[in-house]
Amino acid sequence: MKALPDVLTEKLKGVKGYDEQAFLNAHQLPAVTSVRLHPAKQSNAFINNDPVPWCPEGRYLDERPVFTTDPLYHAGAYYVQEASSMFLDHLLKHLLPDNKNLRVLDLCAAPGGKSTLLASFLDKSSLLVSNEVIRTRASILEENMLRWGYMNTWVTSNDPKDLGKLHGYFDVIVVDAPCSGSGLFRKDAKALADWSEANVQLCSQRQHRILADVWPALKENGILVYATCSYSPEEDEQVLQWLNEHYDVEPLTVPLKEAWGITEIRNGAACAYRFFPDKVKGEGFFIAAVRKKAAADTLKPQRFKTGNDKKIQQQAAYLLQPSDDIAYLHIKDEYCAVIAEHEKDIALLQQYVYLRKTGLVLGTPAAKEWLPAHDVALSVNRGNGIPFVQVNKEQALRYLKKEDLQLPDTAKGWHIIQYEGLGLGWIKALSGRVNNYLPKHWRIRMEITDADWQ
Ligand code: SAM
Repeated sequence: MKALPDVLTEKLKGVKGYDEQAFLNAHQLPAVTSVRLHPAKQSNAFINNDPVPWCPEGRYLDERPVFTTDPLYHAGAYYVQEASSMFLDHLLKHLLPDNKNLRVLDLCAAPGGKSTLLASFLDKSSLLVSNEVIRTRASILEENMLRWGYMNTWVTSNDPKDLGKLHGYFDVIVVDAPCSGSGLFRKDAKALADWSEANVQLCSQRQHRILADVWPALKENGILVYATCSYSPEEDEQVLQWLNEHYDVEPLTVPLKEAWGITEIRNGAACAYRFFPDKVKGEGFFIAAVRKKAAADTLKPQRFKTGNDKKIQQQAAYLLQPSDDIAYLHIKDEYCAVIAEHEKDIALLQQYVYLRKTGLVLGTPAAKEWLPAHDVALSVNRGNGIPFVQVNKEQALRYLKKEDLQLPDTAKGWHIIQYEGLGLGWIKALSGRVNNYLPKHWRIRMEITDADWQ
């Protein structure tokens, strides 16, 4: 590995918990690989691996496998996430003992690590808005959220300023800010090659701007979580210090176990947690939470007429598990299912932001039949009566490469392809052939080697 920048290591000498030799030694070791298991999509994947101490669903892996050739990854049985950043789970569980009826924004959400964690944490009565300003990254976010399979998770693609117009709307805002990335040097050679002091300054200015822009959207007594994967105080403590000085906030703390090796930082009124790779089993990370004490403006509730379409309830009752708290809406030529309590939020949000994904897409009515959406196959609410075909690993990978499958004994009609009990997508069996309905852009493009098929 290339030597770490002197300017960075010099600066860190004043930072609590920094041990130069241990820090440099840790950078000679490979990055830690970890995954977070889906609590509702039970599988055998990694269940016996060592848990991440601050996140019960986190698991350490001894080496980094090729996740693309594991059908369980495609089924959403787990999310590949850096272990330190799973500390958000610990923070949420302590700061929000009641996870119901919340409005939560993940402002810088792509590719979806924090958002999938939030989705697992929140009760279905809560609504998660996952936002990503960069369009290409928003589509990756959308794909990962679809794979995670929760109806109460929506995706937007807006500038923080637009979301800031939702005055006093959110109970929780997570800002996992774009940063200079020094915490990821072991994982990402580009982060090290691109690092510069000038970029730290640029990131710091951007972080201040993002927080100032989104701040009005937080309720009075709402919680802001701020995180970066940078060690630079200019992007971490100093940003919090600025928040303390300019806004009326109360720093929040959570209990830690000494064995975890996390460094608690107290800087004036600010309090935060830093992860050094020589002290924790994970990469560099910084996270803090504050409560907004100042009164916040509130939005005028929007009048809305329910779009709940009773005509498709019969179809929906087949596609999803029965539930009386769902509204079925016709949005952009498709039918979507949202938690009924969240329907009013559509009108409110649409005033200021572009809703890329609203709930769970059920499908489209065509001339002769209903075309089911991919979302249903991956949803945690999928109906138990949908026919499915259980496949082995080779068949699952061929399906995921969008190849034609040979399934001669399959009855005619729509079926979900299942691997180890988890849905991968739809097929339609006709006489003598099977059509593969995996969305084209989801297909595995890489060559699969002989060893990977088994
Ligand atoms: N939270 C994500 C996760 O856990 O998977 C990682 C987020 S990454 C650290 C920061 C994100 O902020 C990137 O997706 C980046 O595209 C986005 N971003 C870049 N510039 C931004 C800006 N000016 N405002 C808001 N987000 C921005």
